[in-house]
Amino acid sequence: MPKFLIGYDVESQDDSTEIFLKAASEVHKNLEAKASIFVVGKTLEKNVATSQETLNAGYLEFHQHTYSHVLLKTVIQENEEGITIFPSGTFEEVCEEISKGQRVLRDLLGVEGIGFTAPYNYYRGLSDRLDLLEVLRGNGIKFVRSAGRNERDWQPVPFEWQPYFYEPQGFPEILECPLHGWQDCIAREKLGWNNIEEYIKWVKKDIDYASANQLDFVYCSHDWSSIRHDPKLDHIAELIIYAREKGMDVTNYSTYYEKKLAEQQDKQKLRNG
Ligand SMILES: [Zn+2]
Repeated sequence: MPKFLIGYDVESQDDSTEIFLKAASEVHKNLEAKASIFVVGKTLEKNVATSQETLNAGYLEFHQHTYSHVLLKTVIQENEEGITIFPSGTFEEVCEEISKGQRVLRDLLGVEGIGFTAPYNYYRGLSDRLDLLEVLRGNGIKFVRSAGRNERDWQPVPFEWQPYFYEPQGFPEILECPLHGWQDCIAREKLGWNNIEEYIKWVKKDIDYASANQLDFVYCSHDWSSIRHDPKLDHIAELIIYAREKGMDVTNYSTYYEKKLAEQQDKQKLRNG
């Protein structure tokens, strides 16, 4: 059964985080649908109580999105507006961002995070950065969302780029989950922020495609963008219901990771006889 993996990048510095956390807790509890939050450390520091309530409600797990949203790799984005460069932090800054991101999760929520979303995402993720994979390993990270851009460092990302382990790089325990299609904020900007109906249709088409081709769908949304013109997250509820109707299993990243890891270990056993 193909999976619908909802991941929220929670990164605002204003009150949208609190509105989002309350609405997301409600939607996911009502539908008994698991999903994952990837939180920026600074955002967590401002929303500890609500984050704890969200976690305690039992349907949303917490992982990190760096401490202050520093890029791991430089993005060379090429689209109809031309080429735009988004520079990365230095290696030292990135190391600090990741370890501090883990620390605030542990200190403020009592969570040992095992997941990570890289700010902006990059073409081919971290395939070419063994040094950064080593840093993630050192911090106990098991799954990463970093490959959410195509060869123009833009979108959409093909659904055929299914999650994979960084095994050839020597990190067979780290799973990459490329963000598929378009990130919610980019799609909604294109469609007009108040045009929720069109956005729902857009994602439903992606769900149709994933389900027809038996592909897992790594879906990316954000706190600030998801509640714009939809403070109760009705669109998320509608997408969850639709994905289930289409035969998809709605689950979180840690459950998904366990399943992929077991599959990979079975394959290794077969290979080794
Ligand atoms: Zn972000």
